[in-house]
Amino acid sequence: MLNYLRFYEDRGLLIARAEAQYVWDAEGNKYLDFHTGHGVAFLGHRNPRVVEALKRQLDEVMTATPSFRVRVRDEMLSALEKVIPGGLDHVALLNSGSEAVELALKIARKATGRRKLVSFTNSFHGRTMGALSVTGSQKYKRGFEPLVPGVEVLPFNDVGSLKVIDGETAAVIIELVQGEGGIIPADPEFAKALGERVDEVGALLVVDEVQTGFGRTGRVWAFQHYNIRPDVLVAGKAIGGGFPVSLVAVGGDVASKLDVGDHGSTYGGNPLACAAVKASVEVLLEDNVVSKAESSGAMMRDKLESRLRDSRIVRGVRGLGLMLGVELRVLPTGVIKCSQARRLLVLKAGSTVVRLLPPYMITVDDIEWGVEALARCIDEEASGRAPSKTG
Ligand SMILES: *Cc1c(COP(=O)(O)O)cnc(C)c1O
Repeated sequence: MLNYLRFYEDRGLLIARAEAQYVWDAEGNKYLDFHTGHGVAFLGHRNPRVVEALKRQLDEVMTATPSFRVRVRDEMLSALEKVIPGGLDHVALLNSGSEAVELALKIARKATGRRKLVSFTNSFHGRTMGALSVTGSQKYKRGFEPLVPGVEVLPFNDVGSLKVIDGETAAVIIELVQGEGGIIPADPEFAKALGERVDEVGALLVVDEVQTGFGRTGRVWAFQHYNIRPDVLVAGKAIGGGFPVSLVAVGGDVASKLDVGDHGSTYGGNPLACAAVKASVEVLLEDNVVSKAESSGAMMRDKLESRLRDSRIVRGVRGLGLMLGVELRVLPTGVIKCSQARRLLVLKAGSTVVRLLPPYMITVDDIEWGVEALARCIDEEASGRAPSKTG
């Protein structure tokens, strides 16, 4: 057997079956999934509506590039119209979050004729060269320089530094809740000042909703928590209900600056991706996904806060909707391992945060069980049984 390149830690778990909020290992043990493949399975594993749509599409047309019309693309666009913010009426589908960020950056340069790109410290926008160039966290970039020139990284949540955004700036890219960086929401005043600044200088505001989007934060889009409007919306992860697909949406003014041949993607917008997005939007709207994420998220946050209040290794609980983080005073590795042994899957964010990205259909029982399992692991860690302390 070949070796699979080891870019990820091996979690030591074979996932043999997955359904809604649960996965099972090869021995049939059941796990509650608050990892959801970095948030991808927000609509639950194998959401029946998405599975059904994909099966139907497989029997109709499996391959067609955007040079050809397929019915499912038009159906996908009609469905998306119900959730894409007003004004952003031009959409392209791609295959990954990084790839959508790449297109957003290309669009920014082409539409404005400017070169400079601005992003923020601690942000994550993907691993391809362009997306990596605007990623604020240094740790992802080491060893890959030189990256794309013309990028300035400003301190996140620092209103004073926004004056660096000027008439040369093509675009500013931001995650309104930093995900990989540690579940860190933008301050409302910062977001407002950013929106005002980009308007003032005529730069495009690119909002990277790859992790926050599609209901995760208790709004369809995280920017709806803020007094801000994207010129370019980037989404991915959850939008295909588990199928690999991402999107970029822009308004007519930006779209009018783009020409045939400016971009392309062999698989982008293929019929299966269209079917998955269409079905996912239907689930989002018809199963009240957004309001469930808001109420379950609020309940889970309350329970985490009250259960963990007295823990000496917990710094705090934060997040929006079902995008939650528990910041520890120690490395989270031991707690994550312990949780998995107790049959709860969670993941890391930043250097000291346990990240929780549950699917929208978690029940009150799931929340109570999950919070207790995690809290016991945190208690165990605090009692000094685990290694890897940062102090
Ligand atoms: C995951 C993520 C990306 C990259 O998406 P991929 O599908 O892994 O390329 C970009 N931006 C944000 C905010 C993400 O969370």
